[in-house]
Amino acid sequence: MEDQGEVASYIPELAKVDPANFGVHISTIDHRHFGSGNCYDKFSIQSIAKVLALVMAYRIVGDEIWNRVGVEPSGTAFNSLVQLETDRGIPRNPFLNAGAIVVSDILLSKLKNPREDFIAFVRSITNNTSLDYSRRIAQSEKEVGYRNVALCNFIKSFGQINNEPVDVLDFYYDLCSLEMSCQELSGLFLFLANNGCDVKSKNPVLSESQSKRINALMQTCGFYDESGDFAFKVGLPGKSGVGGGIIAVHPDQYAIAVWSPRLNKKGNSYRGMKFLEEFTTRSELSIF
Ligand code: GLN
Repeated sequence: MEDQGEVASYIPELAKVDPANFGVHISTIDHRHFGSGNCYDKFSIQSIAKVLALVMAYRIVGDEIWNRVGVEPSGTAFNSLVQLETDRGIPRNPFLNAGAIVVSDILLSKLKNPREDFIAFVRSITNNTSLDYSRRIAQSEKEVGYRNVALCNFIKSFGQINNEPVDVLDFYYDLCSLEMSCQELSGLFLFLANNGCDVKSKNPVLSESQSKRINALMQTCGFYDESGDFAFKVGLPGKSGVGGGIIAVHPDQYAIAVWSPRLNKKGNSYRGMKFLEEFTTRSELSIF
């Protein structure tokens, strides 16, 4: 399949990844699993972790969370500052960097040991104890995180961040540094295809209505200013990360993860999007 674009280089450690990697893995709610290519190699999931942070915060504070972050597509880049001025520090949605920084602030206020509690939550969803942060990636991002420092301080100037920016950002960089393979990612996100319940244990991670809302947000905001294009071409709720990963969910059927590090101009995996477009077109397995 044709490949284009560039590997993310603004985080120095991400620039070292081999651009030729390509992996895909699908997990279905009736326990079928198929993978191909580098589907067992771990990669940096970056902004895909924003969904997991939102899920954890939503469980803890419920619908109050929507007082701190909006639910509208922004039509802007993932790291944009512009709307925060008119919106007085309330990010348009939780998948922008600004939104995920606010969600990180909420978790920091609510959790006793945020770093440990968050990873324990992620591991507990599918009982996968091998999931972990990468100190190397988090440190690399922190060293050049000027834009996120600006976002966090700007939001705090409107009184919408309660903790110290340095602590909020350390936690945010940890979230973004999570590493997973496509196989692990598709297994982990399967609860969003299963009305919020883990498919094996049947334990609810979210209520049915909360799960619907997370999927709706992924559909409308998961690819920043390319969310419309992803809905148009792929037709699934999904979320991308600058590590080149994409997770997409078909409610009541499956979760699919794809990884290809070269990114298009909007910061989404070029080949990942192309692959998913082909996949849902040929299989006729989109939600539309
Ligand atoms: N950690 C990255 C950042 O804050 C996440 C961006 C992304 O994956 N779109 O810039």
